[in-house]
Amino acid sequence: MSPTNAKLNAFPVFMRVDGEAVAIVGNSEEALAKARLLAQSSAALRIIADNADPELLSFIATAGAVHVDAAYDAAQLEGVALVFAASGDEALDRRVAEDARTLGIPVNAVDRPELCDFFTPALVNRAPVAIAIGTEGAGPVLAQLLRARIDRLLSPSLGRLAALAASFRIAAERLPKGNRRRRFWSDFFAGAPAKAVEAGEFDRAHRAALDLLASHAPAAGHIALVGAGPGAEDLLTLRAHRLLMEADAIVYDALVPEAIVAMGRRDAERLPVGKRKGCHSKSQEEINALLIELGRAGKRVVRLKSGDPLVFGRAGEEMAALREAGVAYEVVPGVTAAFAAAADFELPLTLRGVTSSMVFTTGHDLKGNSLPDWAKLAISGATVAVYMGRSVAAEVAGRLIEAGLSPDTAVAVVENASLGNRRRFHGTLADLPSLEARVDLTGPVMTIIGDAVAGANFERSEPLATHRHEEAAASPVAEGVRQ
Ligand code: SAH
Repeated sequence: MSPTNAKLNAFPVFMRVDGEAVAIVGNSEEALAKARLLAQSSAALRIIADNADPELLSFIATAGAVHVDAAYDAAQLEGVALVFAASGDEALDRRVAEDARTLGIPVNAVDRPELCDFFTPALVNRAPVAIAIGTEGAGPVLAQLLRARIDRLLSPSLGRLAALAASFRIAAERLPKGNRRRRFWSDFFAGAPAKAVEAGEFDRAHRAALDLLASHAPAAGHIALVGAGPGAEDLLTLRAHRLLMEADAIVYDALVPEAIVAMGRRDAERLPVGKRKGCHSKSQEEINALLIELGRAGKRVVRLKSGDPLVFGRAGEEMAALREAGVAYEVVPGVTAAFAAAADFELPLTLRGVTSSMVFTTGHDLKGNSLPDWAKLAISGATVAVYMGRSVAAEVAGRLIEAGLSPDTAVAVVENASLGNRRRFHGTLADLPSLEARVDLTGPVMTIIGDAVAGANFERSEPLATHRHEEAAASPVAEGVRQ
């Protein structure tokens, strides 16, 4: 949905036409195309055409349509529910549209949007399931392309499955409302009944649905710890997307974009647990307790974390709590921020002959007296990705230089990696402290340090040095990044 045209000027509805008369005025190609479309419904077709093309005549015969073999006259529209003006003649189409309007009948005029009360969609038909694609008359070719794509996505047996579902609706309404009933339907559409229909075994599908209806096994809760990726919606995995659409509850952190949370069902509970503007954030203990409570209530929960759930996501604590409580869980990986930042910079994290190891760190463990192991790895050439590193940038740079890493070592910084508003900066370890003072960096920031950074593409990045601290600028080190 583009922000400039977020509203539809034509609202899609499905109109009941079973047994209703629908008139098509026209005697050649356009009329035939509309007649074919309408023949996918159970409407009674009335085709008003004198001098009809042979093709139209043969269609009328095979489709069992009523043929009014006379010049058009408004009286022929008596009692119809919809009118299609498809004569190809502007004056005649206009007359038909005006007559229809006088009679209070909605009208569509082929290729004349200004005369239309409604538009006809491109249609994917799996009756009783229908997918109608509309472009408000702007792009019939686009609509056809989308139609072909959607058609490929949907099983040819979808209609059979939907018909079977309709036959179980009353029985399913006797199940307790909420979780139990929803579970029946999701098992119906994704489980044994759907598989049997797909295989063409309709009796077996019916029996499988009856079994589901009778099954009294309490719904087992399940928590999926899911990586939402670094921010861009299309970096979400297909598995994460499927689980989101199945989830009864979505528990999410502050960095997870709203658009990803919105991929869940409309009736799913949405529970923010991270700090957002004006929102109280929950403690880790409270989050653990919430997950256990939802799991015990039999809910399917997606616990969404930014990036990968196992990288600085406190997933360890949540998994331990779930294990102890006996609540089932699984982990779905995501694209971690370091990978997204590296991609934005075309930065090889491992580089043949330069570096073959990589460190994920926060830099927050540099405060003590002894250097942590990762600093030693950095000195021996590892690529270092610093998460949550903005506020400790000076500490990280200072301690690494002190420990022997060259102040010239290349550094890449990405704010809002993977997103449209990303910003890239390059420089050296000596420039890094300037990050702390930058109030213009309001998004999450990833810092990557190491010789492999020199292999990145700096065409779209700004030098960090232009923002260097006075004191850092005064130091004799740092000639800019080596390229
Ligand atoms: N589990 C997450 C990390 C959570 S810690 C992951 O795997 O990516 C939060 C830190 O991740 C932020 O402080 C920042 O350093 C980094 N981060 C998350 N999203 C980012 C993004 N889009 N761009 C840059 N850094 C990001």
